[in-house]
Amino acid sequence: MVQDRETLEFDIVFIGAGPANLASAMHLQRRLKQHNALSANRIDPAIAVIDKGRYAGAHLLSGALLDPKALEEFFPDYLERGCPVEATVSNEHLWYLTAKRKFPFPFCPEPFSNKGNMVVSLSRLGSWMAEEAQKEGIQFFDNTAAAQPYVENGRLAGILTDDKGIDRNGQKKSNFEAGLLLTTKVAVIGEGSDGSFYRKVCEHFPTDQETIPQRYETGVKETWRIPPGRLTAGEVHQMFGYPLPTDKYGGGWLYALTPTLLSLGFVTSLEPSSPVCDPHRNLQRFKQHPMLAKILEGGSMIESGARTITSGGADAMPPLYGPGFLVTGESAGMVNMQRHKGIHLAMKSGILGADTLFESLLHNDFSSAQLKSYEERFKNSWAYDELHAARNYRKAFDSGLYSGLLQAGLQLKFPALAMADGFGKQRNKKNGGASKRAAIESFTPDGKLTFSKTESIYRSGTMHEENQPCHLLIKPEDIEEICLKKCTLEFDNPCRHFCPAQVYEITADPRPELKLNPSNCLHCKTCETVDPYGIITWIPPEGGGGPGYKIS
Ligand code: SF4
Repeated sequence: MVQDRETLEFDIVFIGAGPANLASAMHLQRRLKQHNALSANRIDPAIAVIDKGRYAGAHLLSGALLDPKALEEFFPDYLERGCPVEATVSNEHLWYLTAKRKFPFPFCPEPFSNKGNMVVSLSRLGSWMAEEAQKEGIQFFDNTAAAQPYVENGRLAGILTDDKGIDRNGQKKSNFEAGLLLTTKVAVIGEGSDGSFYRKVCEHFPTDQETIPQRYETGVKETWRIPPGRLTAGEVHQMFGYPLPTDKYGGGWLYALTPTLLSLGFVTSLEPSSPVCDPHRNLQRFKQHPMLAKILEGGSMIESGARTITSGGADAMPPLYGPGFLVTGESAGMVNMQRHKGIHLAMKSGILGADTLFESLLHNDFSSAQLKSYEERFKNSWAYDELHAARNYRKAFDSGLYSGLLQAGLQLKFPALAMADGFGKQRNKKNGGASKRAAIESFTPDGKLTFSKTESIYRSGTMHEENQPCHLLIKPEDIEEICLKKCTLEFDNPCRHFCPAQVYEITADPRPELKLNPSNCLHCKTCETVDPYGIITWIPPEGGGGPGYKIS
């Protein structure tokens, strides 16, 4: 009940402490300080950032290569202030892999080039940005999940945070603490890919704007320590091909943070109409390629994790504002799949959002008409130009790898094609498509180069309060009629494979049952986005639960 909750009043609440919202909060605070230094009419809004992780950066995971363009705009002295840049890209390679061989691309096309970019750990970067934001005077609430929107007078007026101390049967435990109501004039939603709060906000405020459906990939990542002498700091390798069949989109990466510390991962496309896939296994098989196996030999995997990536691009972008809210970064699909990057776009969206928020505070106008200026700013920015120029890249691979490479090559040669309406084919059919029971080959990890899902979860730092309600909601009637009948027949229960944390199991004795292991959950959102029937709803567990990334 809203009435039972303690209420904290804010002017601006940022939901999610990723690069978009942290850049936004800091830029807003600086604009306010500049204004207050020059004007007699001070503006001193109450600003807060909330995040469901148990510390800043705990849930942030990416490759990651950072184009510093946006960071330089709002934080020109970021290096002097200790921004954790691991290395500047020193040399880069693009490969096509078969099971045993590697073929270099003859040249690195301009959009793939990472000249001047930086190798970073997104969790370290986010943690540092959160510290800087707190130094600027912004309140930061970790361990706090945005559970429900609070809607009043036709606008988003606040956030109900998660209750703590509820047992698995929904009863209050002795340590029960009711969640808070955080009222706000504007909420800035920047939860990353497939945000649960944003989904609920969209139910309250449906849009009639026509976009193509959002689409997703899953990236599974490992961080390794390896013996010296094999790589140089800033070395970047990007790969297509093995172990995926040529009708699937995806690929791998290897980035050297230092000569002995590397980020390695594999991206698998998620197709609800053809949901049988195993992104975790794809990474394990990718590492078995002789090129990777040789680099990793004698090394040790120190961290592992997974996260979905939005890949619909400019054509799938939702409205960036609504009554009482803005949407930033990957929550709005700001990822350039052609460049394999989104952090710089997220930061830019945050900066532009802050400019709109500053004007709203200045004029005490929080109407949708005023908030709309954020979308206008974004659509007039280099960030949108970049996204728009790459709008057809991911679609080109819907017809398979070879056709995709050909079309992508044509787009690079003739940039007008890259932006043309109707180029490429959109194949993202939720709940549609032919039934398909693809087989997942058996695989035995060796515990040195390749790992089971259980070992990978252990290295993700994932922790949840065990005695709490399950945060993966499937109606009992859907379990009986869809999971255990229809899905078993049509797809042979692909949830057993696509979840990188083995949360879903079908037990057989004495009768088939769906068994869930929610405390394994990496919060990657693969299940919700690739579920062919749309019957899984992911809600945030008790704040603080989930992975504990430190260098992902
Ligand atoms: Fe990812 Fe958790 Fe869903 Fe598994 S249950 S796919 S770890 S969000």
